[in-house]
Amino acid sequence: MLEVRNLNAWYDRSHVVQDISFEVHAGEIVTLMGRNGAGKTTTLRTLMGLLARSSGAIRFDGQELQGRPAHVRYHLGLAYVPEDRRIVTGLTVRENLQLGLIASSRRGESDAMIDEIAETFPRLKERLAQDATSLSGGEQQMLAIARAMMARPRMILLDEPSEGIMPLLVHEMFVLFSRLKDQGTTILLVEQNVERALGISDRAYILDQGRVVHTGGAAALLADEDIQNRYCAV
Ligand code: ATP
Repeated sequence: MLEVRNLNAWYDRSHVVQDISFEVHAGEIVTLMGRNGAGKTTTLRTLMGLLARSSGAIRFDGQELQGRPAHVRYHLGLAYVPEDRRIVTGLTVRENLQLGLIASSRRGESDAMIDEIAETFPRLKERLAQDATSLSGGEQQMLAIARAMMARPRMILLDEPSEGIMPLLVHEMFVLFSRLKDQGTTILLVEQNVERALGISDRAYILDQGRVVHTGGAAALLADEDIQNRYCAV
């Protein structure tokens, strides 16, 4: 579904992503792991077309994404949930969800879509009329993910979804990811919570200083403490 070849990305002159290649097959959950500053967020932002300078090939569902703006990538079925969630204050949960379809030709299906999404996100279903800022951090993160799912993306890029969230909701969130996978969504996940992430992933890539230094099946990586200590300690 996603095939990334020799991806490079820069912030000004700083060469942050260096010749990264990886792929995500349809229906998989793949995790990008690595220490703070390894380049994980920048990789996701580059896939979404949010970096001013990048090179390399990004094939998504048979189409080349490089050179195409973020909104085109969104219309091709790629969604991105950044770490900072971007919940719109002063709007209800329902209105925030409606924003997920604002750029779509399917705006008119918004209410039907909200009903459908709410089944997958029961915590939101009970709170549709509430001001979104009254939600806990974890619930806001779920709202950000649900909003991205409104456009029925084929693949979703999730940046540190469990960051700063209380353990009960972290558990719910990982159950949710498995459910999204079962419903046919392909997931590329950036997570510091290595055990949880590998627990639901098919495969993982480890980044260090902007490069892929290791890759393997999730079960093998979960058992490899040496690799985890070397590349994944914060
Ligand atoms: P973290 O978990 O801390 O977010 P990460 O693996 O996602 O880590 P990135 O956020 O991609 O890493 O950062 C990679 C490198 O790029 C770091 O050295 C960081 O300081 C630098 N960097 C990140 N954002 C910017 C920016 N907007 N301008 C300049 N440099 C940046």
